[in-house]
Amino acid sequence: MADVPKAVRDEWDAALDSYSRGLFSALEHHFGIAEKAGTISQHEADYTEDGPIEAERCRHCTMFRAPDSCTYVEGDIHPGGHCRFFNAR
Ligand code: SF4
Repeated sequence: MADVPKAVRDEWDAALDSYSRGLFSALEHHFGIAEKAGTISQHEADYTEDGPIEAERCRHCTMFRAPDSCTYVEGDIHPGGHCRFFNAR
């Protein structure tokens, strides 16, 4: 059997890695064992529970995980909150 080109192997590895992470995350949420804490403190992120602009509140951020957590900022995160790392969905 011919060798698979490295570029194809790399693409396959990346796709498999992405799929695995998605599956693992889905299982974590399904079984209620999702990571509650992010990686930086609310203080470091300048987090506030009352975001000043509706379009920039946590519920519209890619890192928000309903009902009350964030993949980047630690602790309970309110859907109406905001921090300096906001990233629009
Ligand atoms: S704005 Fe985004 S990154 Fe910041 S606390 Fe809210 S969900 Fe997390």
